[in-house]
Amino acid sequence: MNDRTALVTGANKGIGRHIAGGLVAEGFTVYVGSRDAARGRQAVEEIGGDARLLVLDVGDADSVAKAAARVDRLDVLVNNAGINPSLAPPTESHAEEFRRAYETNVVAVVEVTNAFLPALRRSPHPRIVNISSGTASLTWSTHPNPQFPPGRPGSAAYRSSKAALNALTLLYAQTLAEEGVKVNALAPGRRATDLVPGAMATGGDPAEAAAGAVRLALLPDDGPTGEFFS
Ligand code: NDP
Repeated sequence: MNDRTALVTGANKGIGRHIAGGLVAEGFTVYVGSRDAARGRQAVEEIGGDARLLVLDVGDADSVAKAAARVDRLDVLVNNAGINPSLAPPTESHAEEFRRAYETNVVAVVEVTNAFLPALRRSPHPRIVNISSGTASLTWSTHPNPQFPPGRPGSAAYRSSKAALNALTLLYAQTLAEEGVKVNALAPGRRATDLVPGAMATGGDPAEAAAGAVRLALLPDDGPTGEFFS
């Protein structure tokens, strides 16, 4: 086993799988978080190197507790698992879509982070990277931006959940600053994945987004914390 260890949630496909591959290439032992064992095993085979399967459904408290019990020390936690249950604007959204988005994109991040904090505290340079979204930026949503024209306020549940994740990133960073735990958020950009219909055809390379997450995972001790990167 390599000296440094990382966990990427939702790493069986998409951006998460590329982040896991990038961290393996940097010499980490990487726990490939996957709620489905078979899909996770396939990703581990494709990633190769020191990738290991960690069955982890971030929305299931028992699954989170069992996974955390298997990891003694962790240098990097990447909260990547996320869903976008609806493209609807707020006026056409259902409460259930909001519950689902917040459960996975916000509540689960708290549950997973807190469960793995004891292992992170055993690392000399602990780093947490939260995969957020540019669509969550209130600044970008209210200023001219070709990606988010003001007339198209869709994905309300998803975007507001990621805005909450940005707030949490700051609060965790401030809470853990004195312990040397750096906590940052990454907006990966629109990428060709299964997250939203059509993105596979029009999104950019997910590997490029993953490289940004790997950079935040490798921040030096004098690097930033509590910030939102794109
Ligand atoms: P994908 O749909 O390709 O991957 C999402 C991953 O999250 C899958 O591995 C999925 O697992 C996993 N996941 C979802 N729910 C759970 C759960 N309860 N427990 C464990 N794993 C879960 O999407 P992306 O790769 O695009 O998304 C990765 C992150 O990037 C997300 O946080 C997303 O919001 C963010 N993002 C993506 C953008 C894009 O354009 N693609 C833009 C901005 C942000 P399973 O296969 O089992 O469903």
